[in-house]
Amino acid sequence: MPRAPAETDFIVVGAGIAGLRAAIELASAGRVVVLTKREVTDSNTQWAQGGIAAALSDEDEVGLHFQDTLNAGDGLCNPEAVKILVEEGPERIEELIAWGTQFDRDGTKLAFGREGAHSRNRILHAHGDSTGREIARALYAKARTLPNITVCEFEFSTDLLLEAGQVRGIHLIDEAGSRQSISASAVLLASGGLGQLYRNTTNPGVATGDGVAMAFRAAAEISDIEFIQFHPTALYLQNAPRFLLSEALRGEGAYLRNSEKIRFMSNYHEMAELAPRDVVARAIVHELEVSRAHNPAVYLDLTHLEAARIKERFPRIYSTCLQYNIDITTDLIPIHPAAHYSMGGIRTNMQGQTSVRQLYAAGETAATGVHGANRLASNSLLEGLVFGARAGSAMRGELRDVKSAAKRSIPQEGSSSDDAASLAEAHIQEIKNLMWQDVGIIRTGSGLNQAIQKLEAIQLSTPRSRRAWEARNLHTAGLLVARSALAREESRGAHYRTDFPTHNDNKFLKHSIATARDIHFA
Ligand SMILES: Cc1cc2nc3c(=O)[nH]c(=O)nc-3n(C[C@H](O)[C@H](O)[C@H](O)COP(=O)(O)OP(=O)(O)OC[C@H]3O[C@@H](n4cnc5c(N)ncnc54)[C@H](O)[C@@H]3O)c2cc1C
Repeated sequence: MPRAPAETDFIVVGAGIAGLRAAIELASAGRVVVLTKREVTDSNTQWAQGGIAAALSDEDEVGLHFQDTLNAGDGLCNPEAVKILVEEGPERIEELIAWGTQFDRDGTKLAFGREGAHSRNRILHAHGDSTGREIARALYAKARTLPNITVCEFEFSTDLLLEAGQVRGIHLIDEAGSRQSISASAVLLASGGLGQLYRNTTNPGVATGDGVAMAFRAAAEISDIEFIQFHPTALYLQNAPRFLLSEALRGEGAYLRNSEKIRFMSNYHEMAELAPRDVVARAIVHELEVSRAHNPAVYLDLTHLEAARIKERFPRIYSTCLQYNIDITTDLIPIHPAAHYSMGGIRTNMQGQTSVRQLYAAGETAATGVHGANRLASNSLLEGLVFGARAGSAMRGELRDVKSAAKRSIPQEGSSSDDAASLAEAHIQEIKNLMWQDVGIIRTGSGLNQAIQKLEAIQLSTPRSRRAWEARNLHTAGLLVARSALAREESRGAHYRTDFPTHNDNKFLKHSIATARDIHFA
C-alpha cells in the first residue's frame, strides 16, 4: 500500500461506504487520497448484515419509505434530508449494481426483505447477511479502476490542518509514531461511528469517534450527538465480541426469552419482538434488573424455526455463533443490548458542508438530520451512499492550488512507551465503563452529571501514540454525548431519561447543537 503524499487535491478520511462513494465522485475532478486507520476492510460498513433500504420493489413507493423514516425519527428528522435519501437512494443502488454489487435475488428479481418499522419489503441484502461487505467490495473494486484515487492504509488522522479558521489538510500519525501533514483543497470526514465509547458495542475497534472529535477541535458544530442507538440483541458470552444478531432474525420469527425462558416482549409493546429497537433494548434491561435468577440472562430463541432456512438466510451469524459452540437452530442464544449507531455527529447541510470552511462530513460521523432521534433499520448504509456521493460532488467545486505540507517526521520520543500505552488503555476502559453505566440506555440527570464530572477529572497528557489519540477522541466524544444528553430534558427516540420520561415538544422538538461555547437547541 502507498504512503500518504505531502499534498493532494482532496482528502477523504475513511474507506467505508460514505468515504469510498465520495472518492469515486471526486476522482473526475482531481487527485484523491483516501485514508484508513487500519486495513481498508476494517470499518462498520464491513459488519453491516441486515441490508440496505430503498423503495425499488413494485409494491413500494418512495413516499412510504419517507413516512417510515419520519415515524422512526420520533419528530426530529429533517424532512428535506429524508426526501433526498429516499428519492436518490434507488438511483444510487442501481449504480452499485452496475458496478458489480451482487444483491441476493429470487430468480432474476431482486429479493426484498422486511425489517421492523418498515411498512414494505424493501431491504436488499447480499450473501444472506453480509450486505456491507459486498457493497464495500464492489465500491473498492470500482475505486481501484480510477487512477486518481490512492488508498493509504494505517494512516491515522489526528487533527485537521487549519489556517485562519479554514481547513487546509490533515495531520497524520503512522503505526511507528511518525507524523506527517498532507495539504489539500478540501477534507471529507467519513470516519464512521463512535460505538467504542461503550463497554458493550457491536462496532469494530476503529469506531472511536475520531471524526467528531477532530471536527469539534476545529470548531465545527456537533448536532444530536445524545442520540445513540443501542441494538437490543448482541451475542453475550464471556471472551466473545458483542457480535450483532440482526433484527432480521426477529423478522423471521425469533422470540426473546428471559432467565425463566418465558417470552416477555408482549408485556412491553403490542408489536412484541418487532417493537422499535429502543423499546426492546429497555425491556431487556428491565427483565435483567427484575430477574431473581442468580445469573440473569436474556435469550434469543430460533429453535422453533426451520433450521435449513435459518442456515441459508443467516450463514454468517450461524457460523460465527457456532465458533462459540452455539448452534442457533437448536440452542438459545444469550444476548444483551449494545451500543450500535450514532444518529448525530458533525452537523452538515445537504451537500455535506460543515460549519468550517473546506471541511465536509458524510456517513455515520455526520448529522444531516436524516435519522432524527432514532434511525430506521437499514437506512444508514443508504445515507452513506447518498450523502457520500453528494459531498463528493460538492467538494469538486473547492479545487484550487495547494502548497505542499511539511514532510514526514521521525517518531517522537516516548511515542511507544509501555507506560503511556497502558495509561491510554486504562483511560479508555474507564471511559467505556462510565459511559455504559451513566450515559447508556437509561439515563438520569444525576447519573449524567456524575459521568460529566468523572470525565472532566480524567487527565489526558499530550497524545504521542495512536491509542493515546483514540483515548483523547473518546474523551471528547464522551463529554459531547453526556453534555448533550443532560441538556435534553425529555425522552425522545433513543434518548431515554427516567427524570423526564416524556416528550417536551415545546422546548425540545429541535436539534441539539454543541459548540465550544455551549449546547443550544435550534
Ligand atoms: C454490526 C453492525 C451491523 C450493521 N448493520 C447495518 C445494516 O444492516 N444496515 C445498515 O444500513 N446499517 C448497518 N449498520 C450501520 C452501518 O454499517 C454504518 O452506519 C455505516 O457502514 C457507516 O459507514 P461510514 O462510511 O460512515 O463509516 P465506516 O464504514 O465505519 O468507515 C469508517 C472509516 O473511517 C476510517 N477512520 C476512522 N477514524 C480514522 C482516523 N482517525 N484516521 C483515518 N481513518 C479513520 C476507518 O478506518 C474506516 O475506513 C451496522 C453497523 C454495525 C456495527
